[in-house]
Amino acid sequence: MSEEKSLNFLEEIIENDLATGKYQQIITRFPPEPNGYLHMGHATSICLNFGLTQKYDGYTNLRFDDTNPVTEDTEYVESIKEDIKWLGFEWKHELYASDYFDTLYEYAVTLINKGLAYVDDLSSEAIAQLKGTPTEPGKDSPYRNRSIAENLDLFERMKQGEFADGTRTLRAKIDMAHTNMLMRDPLIYRIKHAHHHRTGDKWCIYPMYDFAHGQSDAIENITHSICTLEFIPHRELYDWFIEQLGIYPSHQYEFARRNLSYTVMSKRKLLQLVNEKHVNGWDDPRMPTISGMRRRGFTPQSIRTFCEKVGIAKRENVIDFSLLEFCLREDLNQTALRAMAVLEPLKLVITNYDAATTEMLTSENGPDEAYGHREIPFSNTLWIEQEDFMEVPAKKWFRLAPGASVRLKSAYIVTCDTFDKDAAGNITTIYCTYHPNSKSGNDSSGIAVKGVIHWVSAAHAATAEVRLYDRLFKVENPQSEEGDFKDYINPQSLTTVQAYVEPSLTKATLQQRYQFLRKGYFCLDKDATSEKLVFNRTVTLKDAWAKEVKKA
Ligand code: ATP
Ligand code: MG
Repeated sequence: MSEEKSLNFLEEIIENDLATGKYQQIITRFPPEPNGYLHMGHATSICLNFGLTQKYDGYTNLRFDDTNPVTEDTEYVESIKEDIKWLGFEWKHELYASDYFDTLYEYAVTLINKGLAYVDDLSSEAIAQLKGTPTEPGKDSPYRNRSIAENLDLFERMKQGEFADGTRTLRAKIDMAHTNMLMRDPLIYRIKHAHHHRTGDKWCIYPMYDFAHGQSDAIENITHSICTLEFIPHRELYDWFIEQLGIYPSHQYEFARRNLSYTVMSKRKLLQLVNEKHVNGWDDPRMPTISGMRRRGFTPQSIRTFCEKVGIAKRENVIDFSLLEFCLREDLNQTALRAMAVLEPLKLVITNYDAATTEMLTSENGPDEAYGHREIPFSNTLWIEQEDFMEVPAKKWFRLAPGASVRLKSAYIVTCDTFDKDAAGNITTIYCTYHPNSKSGNDSSGIAVKGVIHWVSAAHAATAEVRLYDRLFKVENPQSEEGDFKDYINPQSLTTVQAYVEPSLTKATLQQRYQFLRKGYFCLDKDATSEKLVFNRTVTLKDAWAKEVKKA
């Protein structure tokens, strides 16, 4: 057991709770508000909540925290479910805080009956003014001492829809001088005449987050309710409601929000990027949303490994995006099929190879023999990358140049003889001689070459649009910079090239991942049609940014 990873602080708490018999089984929940698509921050919370109950043999509920009728939508509910399943997790019960509206209403009545809640007629501005400051106590509302009977009547009439939005609220009666500002008679219900995506027009009063969350946890017998650090001050209120109502004692635990470099991680900000068309929708492959990353070609395994590697912290920090890409490359190296594609084509003509002949060559499909082989057509006219030829070769140049030889991957060794240039000075075609006895796997030529380059046969190649992505933001932490985070968007985050790809890629599927030799990992995009191939570059083979940092 010596190589076992040390426990994180939540695992320690849970192991202790199980050992002391505090719980027989642990139950967690993942509680998204359906007001946007899930992002990588949510992935952390999902991996954490589901991971703990997998490890300790409990279960996790998916609970939609849908107490705010205005921003929520069924589209988001569906996308959230799809994303969690795709990440590889299964929830026990699919639940909605809105299903508890009747119970929550009863809880509010219980508090009123205990003299622990009152209807306030003050506006939200007036309430804020009486709230005090962290160093000064607040002042009582003139409505604080209404009788229980009057409060019951007014609350019932709030529910019946007698009053306009904002004219009355229900507040918990705690302590206007409490050192924790959240305990100074917090709002628990507000009037909002709005249509709710599930309860329709049944309700015109809605519980506040603090009055819904802990009680929902209690209703579901959640043992460990895990949330992010900003909820630390809410814990006291969470416990107060549970104690006053005498309901199941769920406990809240906090960990640090996960931030990733070169992106933003807030549904509200991501929604702005979508609405203002800085990206093409929530699932744009540049977005840090789970749906965007899926479309980009990230694998669930790579995201889970990343979350595990990073672990959980008690202090906020920004995690380097390259760590996520590292996990991705590790996974794709094992799972991606190999293929050849030329992104910036230059024509190569083999002058001593019969122009009417097509030869089928075999090439390995994956990292090892288990993946088998595929056939690739070879002919006298090929596409190679422009960057694999230099008219005047640099020192230690092992690729093509006048007089230089190189191996064409899975094919022959060729030697460059001459080339053509157009009027603008661009090299248009290079002419080579091939060595017939140098075929891969059966090479008796005795010619030693250091470079191997990829290619596709011009007559057999398919054309494809290839989308190359870069960081969405130019700076590491756009939310902490001055001004609007959108000022830091990288204008070059998307480049599109017309590529030539080997014919096997016409059968590419959305699920399959590919390594285009020497060019990175790619996947088919959902924009592809039977007439037009479209590929996304998921990630390059090496971390180009790491190199730049070293150079600088
Ligand atoms: P956002 O600000 O993006 O809307 P949120 O916290 O309001 O995020 P919710 O839908 O309320 O989003 O969150 C569901 C769960 O995901 C919560 O338990 C929340 O703590 C967790 N979560 C959200 N963002 C992060 C993050 N960046 N890191 C870790 N956990 C997160
Ligand atoms: Mg939120």
